[in-house]
Amino acid sequence: MKYDYLIVGTGFFGAVSAYLLSQKGKKCLLIDKRPHIGGNVYTEEIKGINVHKYGAHIFHTSNKKVWDFVNSFVEFNRYTNCPVANYKGELFNLPFNMNTFYQMWGVKTPAEAEAKIAEQKAEAVKALGGREPQNLEEQALTLVGKDIFEKLIKNYTEKQWGRKCTELPAFIIKRLPVRLIFDNNYFNDKYQGIPEGGYTKLVEAMIGDCEVRLSTDYFEHKAELDALADKVIYTGEIDRYYDYRYGHLQYRTVSFETELLAGVSNYQGNAVVNYTDADTPFTRIIEHKHFEFGNQPDTVISKEFSKEWQPGDEPYYPVNDDRNSELYAKYKALADTEKNVIFGGRLAEYKYYDMHKVIESAMDMMEKI
Ligand code: FAD
Ligand code: UDP
Repeated sequence: MKYDYLIVGTGFFGAVSAYLLSQKGKKCLLIDKRPHIGGNVYTEEIKGINVHKYGAHIFHTSNKKVWDFVNSFVEFNRYTNCPVANYKGELFNLPFNMNTFYQMWGVKTPAEAEAKIAEQKAEAVKALGGREPQNLEEQALTLVGKDIFEKLIKNYTEKQWGRKCTELPAFIIKRLPVRLIFDNNYFNDKYQGIPEGGYTKLVEAMIGDCEVRLSTDYFEHKAELDALADKVIYTGEIDRYYDYRYGHLQYRTVSFETELLAGVSNYQGNAVVNYTDADTPFTRIIEHKHFEFGNQPDTVISKEFSKEWQPGDEPYYPVNDDRNSELYAKYKALADTEKNVIFGGRLAEYKYYDMHKVIESAMDMMEKI
């Protein structure tokens, strides 16, 4: 055996594992089917701007161990995510806070805002009659009331998920803070920022001197690759590992239309603008330079379109409904019987993990082994 570990996938789970195993003197070979490292956090430089090729990635965590760990490789900047919503030309700050309530209703104090929200949600609260909200629509209406639901939630959510708000679970909307202070920070976490120089630099630093083979699909060379190492860390789709024997797990997928706007130094004045009306076909526009406070003479923007996933598309968001959760449990039972394969990360655990959670889970896993 030439290597102690074969690591399939160079996203955060693979890269963190490679770093920690190397620290313990283990020899790792990383492979990725894509032509680059980094998985979905990959950034590519265009005209001096680090473009988030697979969608906007904002690092946030309250876990000091994870924050110190990532900061030991590269510096993080002070970027704080403050998206703006565009509803038919009207602009609102997100998440829902005093700025949003002022823009929506002209209310100026927390007491006025509270009274307005109470009035806005009264009907929905009455309709529930004391029971818990059963779906996203009921949850949103009883949280912030009808105006915000109609202008900022309903259409965006239906575009993003391709399903009616009444057919979606309530927990999706609970991720968003509702605040009676003037604070546009999208996250509640203690630490937040973007790695200076882009995520690719961070992943590169984690992988260090480990050998990497790109454009290499594990399943096209499985026997040969398995023969090279004692153990495998697999971060690809779990259903693919078992050749879809119980059927396909489903995902939501996203496609990006990226444009270089030569000579435009500032297109929208913010990294993220959500389009919350039903007619605009994309969900949001990302202007990448603002993640790093760029002053370049040009700019790069990406329009994000959410679509139903078909086998073969990039798997982005796991759909954690009953059908998929039951199917995943069957694959997980198979994975639990493997002695020499460790399954980790978003695709192998079929879990909508944020970056800090993937890193934390790889750290825990490597400690265990
Ligand atoms: P991945 O990054 O998917 O890495 C898996 C790797 O395995 C890939 O490179 C893939 O090519 C490779 N692979 C798969 N199968 C094979 C095979 N058969 N052979 C060889 N290689 C293979 N998180 C945040 O914290 N903040 C955000 O703002 C945020 N925004 C996001 C926006 C979008 C649009 C998406 C989709 C995700 C976002 N996330 C965000 C989540 C974040 O992307 C993930 O937490 C993280 O990238 C997961 O890392 P991973 O290593 O588990 O998986
Ligand atoms: N959401 C919304 N309007 C917005 C932004 C978000 O209604 O302008 C809803 C939408 O349903 C989304 C959920 O809030 O799925 C969570 O938003 P978040 O930005 O956390 O979603 P992500 O893209 O990170 O999954």
